[in-house]
Amino acid sequence: MTALRVTLLAGGVGGAKMAEGFANLPNVALTVIGNIADDQDFHGLWVSPDIDTMLYTLSGRINRDQGWGVADEGRRALDTLAELGADTWMFLGDRDFGLHIYRTERLGQGHRPTDITLDIAKQFGIKSRILLPTDEKVQTQVCTEQGWLSFQDYFVRLRCEPSVSALHFEGIDAAKPTQETLNAIKDADLIVIAPSNPLVSIAPILEIEGIVEAMRAASAPVYAVSPLIAGKVVKGPADRMMASLGLRPNALGVAEHYAGILDIFVADRADSSFATQIKDVGMRPVFTDILMSDLAAKTRLAGDVIQMFVSETKRVSM
Ligand code: GDP
Ligand code: CA
Repeated sequence: MTALRVTLLAGGVGGAKMAEGFANLPNVALTVIGNIADDQDFHGLWVSPDIDTMLYTLSGRINRDQGWGVADEGRRALDTLAELGADTWMFLGDRDFGLHIYRTERLGQGHRPTDITLDIAKQFGIKSRILLPTDEKVQTQVCTEQGWLSFQDYFVRLRCEPSVSALHFEGIDAAKPTQETLNAIKDADLIVIAPSNPLVSIAPILEIEGIVEAMRAASAPVYAVSPLIAGKVVKGPADRMMASLGLRPNALGVAEHYAGILDIFVADRADSSFATQIKDVGMRPVFTDILMSDLAAKTRLAGDVIQMFVSETKRVSM
């Protein structure tokens, strides 16, 4: 049996959980299109938090309690920086520093960000492909009562406390999708939008010119898994951000946000009362357990999604 080609659009923690589920299934060839809009320079090094979460998760070195960062980390490099008076609110562990040094050195040598990422994944023994949506820089800026902030300033330094009144993806107008990403969309059997933050993890992928067009033109159906369950996030600011930006902070709001892109919206059983409203948005709702608390739950959800795809394909061809 040839492997089913799944292309997953994903951010950091929620995206990596979903990726791990698919990667753990036999007969699935997974390609991830990750988010680069959280990237920022720290101490002269280019840090790409969502891509790194994906790399660390799929290579099994992730800190499982946190969902990000490397297990068995140290902070000696950071302590030296603090001693020297540097700002160290962004936690970067000793093991993690090695990756940032490697990436930054290769960027300085003129290598493509996509190639660097593919090489890291290969060296880390990752079987799935991790792609970047673009090789250009795209950086999220967050408007709060304290003015415009870089994403990490808002997310890490201010712990998502300020209310968000606008978002801007610096550089996105000039960004072009990579050929690898366009091919991964064109050649997929199934395209899945992970349960990632729709506004700051998925939007900076979808808003690159040509990506939504490629998804609409693709022969694969597009599914999304809700990051919100019963009106709450599992983690992070997505619900508050959606509310302050005028979206409904629940699964229905996510479905509405993805209207025109999705064939199937996968939500939690706790949200089954939204069935009719989600249908009215123009997609088919499917309800299952979408909380991924451990590897078994991740694998089961990924398996459910594949099962939906298989039965849908049969239904359509009958
Ligand atoms: P970040 O880049 O690290 O913030 O991570 P993502 O954007 O990929 O994911 C953040 C979203 O993941 C949040 O809105 C969470 O509610 C969602 N999330 C985290 N864990 C789970 C889970 O187990 N199930 C579902 N459905 N969503 C989850
Ligand atoms: Ca992120």
